[in-house]
Amino acid sequence: MSKDSSPVFHPETLTAQALGRVAEPYRDIVPPLHLSTTFERADDGSYPGGRVYSRDASPAYDQAEALLAELEAGDSALLFSSGMAAAAAVFQALEPGQRVLAPRNMYWALRKWLILFAEQWQLDLAFYENADLADLEAKLAIGAPKLLWIESPANPTWELTDIAAASALAHRAGAQVAVDATVLTPVHGQALKMGADIVMHSATKYLNGHSDVVAGALVARKDAPLWPRIRTVRALGGAVLGPFEAWLLLRGMRTLFPRVRTASASAMKLAEALERHPAVSQVSYPGLPSHPQHALAQRQFSNGFGGMLSVRIRGGESAARAVAAKLRIFKQATSLGSVESLVEHRASVEGPGTFCPDDLLRVSVGIEHSDDLIADFVQALDSIA
Ligand SMILES: *Cc1c(COP(=O)(O)O)cnc(C)c1O
Repeated sequence: MSKDSSPVFHPETLTAQALGRVAEPYRDIVPPLHLSTTFERADDGSYPGGRVYSRDASPAYDQAEALLAELEAGDSALLFSSGMAAAAAVFQALEPGQRVLAPRNMYWALRKWLILFAEQWQLDLAFYENADLADLEAKLAIGAPKLLWIESPANPTWELTDIAAASALAHRAGAQVAVDATVLTPVHGQALKMGADIVMHSATKYLNGHSDVVAGALVARKDAPLWPRIRTVRALGGAVLGPFEAWLLLRGMRTLFPRVRTASASAMKLAEALERHPAVSQVSYPGLPSHPQHALAQRQFSNGFGGMLSVRIRGGESAARAVAAKLRIFKQATSLGSVESLVEHRASVEGPGTFCPDDLLRVSVGIEHSDDLIADFVQALDSIA
């Protein structure tokens, strides 16, 4: 592979080789760790290295940002200290008084942040029904919204928003579109190609994939109107990622495709097995024909339907918690998108005001053998029957 990525290569190839770059002078296959916070000026006061200070633009980010831009079909990517910092930067780039539409069902901490902070900063916040384009269209007609925030599939029910149709509606109304694609991942879909202006990731999840880095990312095309301001929000707000975390993230991303493909294939098998079990009242998974938006999922996803599913247990909260406690392979922990499988009683994590049913377990499928995962869940469900 040449130094510059080439469109003739598949994303799997570009990702495995992190764009195929090698570093001078030793021809390192793995990039060196750039720790310097500052860079020397020449006698004439210029910066021959092209860098001034690492809060503005750290060389530790270059390769990971270039790879992410390539994977999401964007022109530019920015790493952040967390997914929340990346999401917050988009809202902080707006002006006071501007109207923002967010889905009713979305990542809980971001919803909480929007209600706590964005409203205080006088963003005019309104919520739409994730799966209801008519509701979205009606809300886009009120108050000239500047930003439509989409999360698809959305935590923790895996409701979908039709990114292409919603983006078209938003653009007609003069709003820009940002998509939280943490769970979709560029393996399953590229939101910019579907019409979004900005893609956001909690890189803590699938992109890094090993539960050992908290990081976030945004990707956009050159012409995204909010982009210059978002760049300023990062450089001056300072929610920057450490160089070692950026290095680990690039290392994690190299295996993105096989990890996500394996997790998705196992999630499909587990979802089918759980749907047949009498102790289960409902399985939410975009890959199941019983998902109310399965037809949309088939258009919006490629390479499977993701590694996340939720399951509702007959017998309510106590039964759901008992199942979680009986699981041996699935660890009871928050977060998602890592190589190890996790299970979480989501309502108790979200706390008061949650929309999450109290009999729901959120499941993040890892890359263990699918037979082991299915057997583990079946023995836990059998034990409460
Ligand atoms: C985890 C997560 C976030 C927040 O990311 P952090 O890296 O934890 O700050 C945002 N959106 C979704 C969908 C997530 O799963």
